[in-house]
Amino acid sequence: MFSYKSEQNSSDPVLNIGTDMKDYINFMFPEKSFKEKEKPILYLIKSCEYYDLSERESIESINKVLGDKSISRRTYYNYKKKLYDSQAFGLLKNSCYNTIGVKLFILDSILDDWEHTKRADKLIGQQFPKRKQVLEDEEKQKEELNNVMNRAEANINKLKEMETSQSRIDSTLPSNHTTREEFVKCGKEFCLQCPHGPYYYAYWKDSTTKKIKKKYLGVIDPRQ
Ligand SMILES: [Zn+2]
Repeated sequence: MFSYKSEQNSSDPVLNIGTDMKDYINFMFPEKSFKEKEKPILYLIKSCEYYDLSERESIESINKVLGDKSISRRTYYNYKKKLYDSQAFGLLKNSCYNTIGVKLFILDSILDDWEHTKRADKLIGQQFPKRKQVLEDEEKQKEELNNVMNRAEANINKLKEMETSQSRIDSTLPSNHTTREEFVKCGKEFCLQCPHGPYYYAYWKDSTTKKIKKKYLGVIDPRQ
């Protein structure tokens, strides 16, 4: 997909394409070394994502394939977490482009064996003869695009709001405050998004009470 050699002399100071591009791709899509015995389940989970199955449908259909080697809900989540544990998904999380389509694209780059994929798709797909895979489903695609548009619009509005609230924050916070970035665990037993954040808070010592005070500043780093 990328041609390294032809751009060896690139003078781009930010990204020296050629040597750095390979590091960058490895960073975004680390080569996963899954154990051989884990692979069948991981490919089945990927297929469930392709058919946009619910959690329950996924576990049930995977277990129909696995027979007496069936897995528990917890095991299913552990495998899923393994699959979604990459930098690319982390960055995607708060982006307006966080769609099933993009997720599937990344999953395909992590589990890229075509034979495994085809077999798993068949085993899952035949259990849901009336469903289409997300990428072949026009209605689903339209819905996804609408979501992207809505999220992009919400992001733009949020930024506009930020600009106006920034001046308000600056005038209400004492000059001795420090800004901190924090992540929060929601406490749900099965959560693929944990920890949530970052959230930004201002901390300062109240000059009369000598107590530490804290104020929520939002989801965008106000120091930027
Ligand atoms: Zn959570």
